[in-house]
Amino acid sequence: MKITDVQACVIGKSEPHSGGSIWTFVRVYTDEGIVGTGECNSAGIFTSGFATKETVLTLKDLLIGEDPFNIGPLYEKMRRRGRYAGGNSAPFTFALTGIENALFDIVGKALGVPVYKLLGGQFRDRIRLYADCHAGETNEPAAYAARAQEVVAEGYSAVKFDVDHKADAKLDRHNWTVGAAEMTHIVDLIAATREGIGYDVDLAIDCHGQFDLPSAITLAKAVEDLRLMWLEEPLPAENIDALAQVRASTSTVICTGENHYTRFDFLELLRQKAVDVIMPDLAKAGGILEAKRIADMADTHYIPVAPHNVSSPLGMMAACHVLASIPNFLVLEFHGREISWWEDLCIGDKPFIQSGWMEVSDSPGVGVELDETVARSLLWNGDVYFVAP
Ligand SMILES: [Mg+2]
Repeated sequence: MKITDVQACVIGKSEPHSGGSIWTFVRVYTDEGIVGTGECNSAGIFTSGFATKETVLTLKDLLIGEDPFNIGPLYEKMRRRGRYAGGNSAPFTFALTGIENALFDIVGKALGVPVYKLLGGQFRDRIRLYADCHAGETNEPAAYAARAQEVVAEGYSAVKFDVDHKADAKLDRHNWTVGAAEMTHIVDLIAATREGIGYDVDLAIDCHGQFDLPSAITLAKAVEDLRLMWLEEPLPAENIDALAQVRASTSTVICTGENHYTRFDFLELLRQKAVDVIMPDLAKAGGILEAKRIADMADTHYIPVAPHNVSSPLGMMAACHVLASIPNFLVLEFHGREISWWEDLCIGDKPFIQSGWMEVSDSPGVGVELDETVARSLLWNGDVYFVAP
């Protein structure tokens, strides 16, 4: 089998509270008529998908005429081409991820097996989800508690809330210090949410990497008794040593990873003892095999994996195949609760999401395809749909 063409297409629509609902999809075509589709995160506003699309197309010449079963060598060839061009970050790893996922989709379809069977098999046949939640525009403790209760009533055993958006409470808009009143408000939000759902539901809190070191430590220590599933990105992603100081200062579980890429970034997080839980985004961290390498490395440190996820059903199912195949999976994010067309974009065994779980597809390949009619109606900013060669 030979690869005959590689195309990319940007699809989605900007939605509030979606975490970024515009995605770059990759299609890899073969001379045997098997077509694979992969998804790349587009990181919302930053690239709007087109930088990722351009990057995919610059890698096309490395793939044409090659055997799609050679995922490992092809991956390294692409990855090494990018090493002088930010090859360990966005949008390069986004593109690499989407292409690699499309190759796995082809191999699974060619062999008639779901992707998880190519990864060593299945620890679990359904994936536990947590809902990323928003409490309207009020940002008041009672609203957080009410939204958390509403989501738990839908069947979710874990929820996550943001606490970093009270910008008008800041004493200084340019530093990352949490002022006294803001800190009180944040702790009140978390405490009210915990009180609303009790201690039998997991609660994660996201800081979006917007606090400085003393603020992060103060917050982490202030919420120790609230037994968080994790405190996420209490610091920006760049300085891992600083995050290690936060972790060493507190019994609150510290999590990061959605802005880290490939095994090399996660090696540093683990080596520097900066995290209790890692949360790679599997639509941007480097691909299915790279995600497995990251998870296996974390497992040797007894660290669980709880991926960040703002993908469409296609990218999310690709992640589920990885998470089915690793022992140290904790929980997967679901960010599409408030996107009315999220399930409609794809074809597969629906509903994709049920009562806080996603069933892993047993169809060959990833097991989810774009619904062409819906996808065409959601082409982003004038982009054109795939054209079969
Ligand atoms: Mg986050």
